[in-house]
Amino acid sequence: MMKPVLTLGVAFSAMLSACANTPEPTVTQDPDWPERTEAEMGSAAAAAEIRARGPWQPPADVHCRSGDILLDGHFSGGQLGDCETGADGTFTLTLYPENAPPINPSPWYAARVSGAAGELLSMTIEVDRFDARYWPKLSTDGVNWSPLPESQARFIDDGAAMQIEMTLSQPISWIAGGELLTDDWYQGWLGGLAETGDVDVTLLGESAHGRPLWLAQTAPKAEMVMFIGRQHPPEVTGALTMRPFVDAVFADTALARQFRERFQVVMVPLVNPDGVALGHWRHNTGGVDLNRDWGPFTQPETRAIKAWLDANVSDDNRIRLLLDFHSTKRNLFYTHRDVDVTDPPDVARDWLVAGFARLPDYPVTREASALAEQANSKNWFYASYGIPAITYETGDETDREAIRHSATVFAEEMMKVMLATAKPAVN
Ligand SMILES: [Zn+2]
Repeated sequence: MMKPVLTLGVAFSAMLSACANTPEPTVTQDPDWPERTEAEMGSAAAAAEIRARGPWQPPADVHCRSGDILLDGHFSGGQLGDCETGADGTFTLTLYPENAPPINPSPWYAARVSGAAGELLSMTIEVDRFDARYWPKLSTDGVNWSPLPESQARFIDDGAAMQIEMTLSQPISWIAGGELLTDDWYQGWLGGLAETGDVDVTLLGESAHGRPLWLAQTAPKAEMVMFIGRQHPPEVTGALTMRPFVDAVFADTALARQFRERFQVVMVPLVNPDGVALGHWRHNTGGVDLNRDWGPFTQPETRAIKAWLDANVSDDNRIRLLLDFHSTKRNLFYTHRDVDVTDPPDVARDWLVAGFARLPDYPVTREASALAEQANSKNWFYASYGIPAITYETGDETDREAIRHSATVFAEEMMKVMLATAKPAVN
């Protein structure tokens, strides 16, 4: 493929390193794609075509066919970008972000593959202006997923693209950048929690396109903790972390019972349902990175959470901790610094020291930074309530069993540390 030279190449490669809270370089807001020279775009004709195209809108009818194999994206989370079929039967997907840059380079894709077992699938995944990122995962039942073996997938063109060649083993399968964790998955999870009787699942509000924003909570107490997730659609390992973490908090263990006795648990696990359903890289349908909207509150998804907090947080029902689950290239926690005063104090430090000590083989770091201007949840909750507010990031390709185990350990240590904090003074 023609690898376009990015006019903002340096800025975007810096952004590659983290999804949520790393200070990002200033990029001029441009309503359309940044201009590039005709040489960078391959030819005058290509340049004219790209300019005429404008911001990417996913086609309503996403499918392509080669011989006896059909690829389609007609399902929640489906995303093929532009799909073309070559004379040799090879599929080429070209992925585009849902909006013009600046955008985080998280090129999501998810295709359903229909064809007889034994058929050869040959597919190249290209990414307009960015590099390929997510190693392909395969599912034959839509539930269980595993990474394609290296004999069937590889990065090509210095990482700009990806090539998949495999023989179909089932008549229906899915290939995607990560597990398809869409509204069904959340509905099943929240339904299970609601059946326990301790958890109330309610409608917090609706997304811009009218998808439900679900809130799950236990009964109000003097103190509450809040967990949010999936502000960024492709960040499925954040969801794969959040679920066992929350399950540990709701487990039938002495520690978890003691924790729930003292703290109300409040969570909004799917903050960007439209972006997830539409296979976005980053934004909601308002074209906004929701984790840059804490403060402006211009979007219905963030506004709904803000309204709930305004109506519920009080001196009799204090928020004491915020955890926001994401994914990036590796496992890490973004926190404030130890010198920054929080109430309760020292939670980030004590929690992560204890968690890291129990996971000597799990590569994970803490990245502490001062309060910054960036309108993300971590900064806003810290600035608004003075509480520990932490972005919990799991690597895109972290082993799934290691995710489950580490999430359980971090949940247990979080509960111990929060139980050891002093209760707020009664007014
Ligand atoms: Zn993120």
